[in-house]
Amino acid sequence: MNSNPFTILPLNASLLANLTTLGYGRMTTIQDRSLPYVLEGRDLIAQAKTGSGKTAVFGLGILHRLDPARFAVQGLVLCPTRELADQVAGELRRLARAEGNIKVLSLTGGSPLRPQAASLEHGAHIVVGTPGRIRDHLGRGTLDLTHLHTLVLDEADRMTDMGFYDEIAGIVRACPSRRQTLLFSATYPDDIRQATSGFLNNPAEVIVESQH
Ligand code: ADP
Ligand code: MG
Repeated sequence: MNSNPFTILPLNASLLANLTTLGYGRMTTIQDRSLPYVLEGRDLIAQAKTGSGKTAVFGLGILHRLDPARFAVQGLVLCPTRELADQVAGELRRLARAEGNIKVLSLTGGSPLRPQAASLEHGAHIVVGTPGRIRDHLGRGTLDLTHLHTLVLDEADRMTDMGFYDEIAGIVRACPSRRQTLLFSATYPDDIRQATSGFLNNPAEVIVESQH
């Protein structure tokens, strides 16, 4: 693999220094090929196998555009399960560590709604959650997406397999139409591309074939 170092990207110095601290020197293939589109604000469909570093693609995209001084939800990441949402939230907190006080909330089913609503009331910059629970918060008016700039559909293949399509469509309708939408999948995204075409605006497509 001859991927580039992160330092070729137009990221701020503190984000770059933190990546070095995390041991991220060179980009993985999906990062190398996707991040230029993401950082210029394009919508994206990205497919690469599990473990290839897709979280940092959207994580750096969200953080690049985030205004820490504006305490409002600016990034929303939808994940298929609670475990994945917690894992993604953890990775986003690590990536955001050098950017000051950035609040990342994980909102999934199986936990009571009220404490989550109270956390939202206190404010958050980034929300990671499962579609059903995010839909619940939108329905109750406890989650405000007025200031959202990045919507991420992570593991979109699994989310559609699990029957979350209608919830996702409802969430997309609650997002500002002027936003960046990033979609990630571990499998070849032909049917996903069809199903989600209305959610994305002229997306760049990056497919990384698995090496055998
Ligand atoms: P995916 O979502 O594609 O399954 P992840 O984003 O979960 O993959 O990343 C898999 C692992 O690789 C994580 O432990 C992550 O911290 C690590 N990782 C990601 N990008 C890099 C990189 N450029 N250099 C070193 N480690 C990385
Ligand atoms: Mg992932």
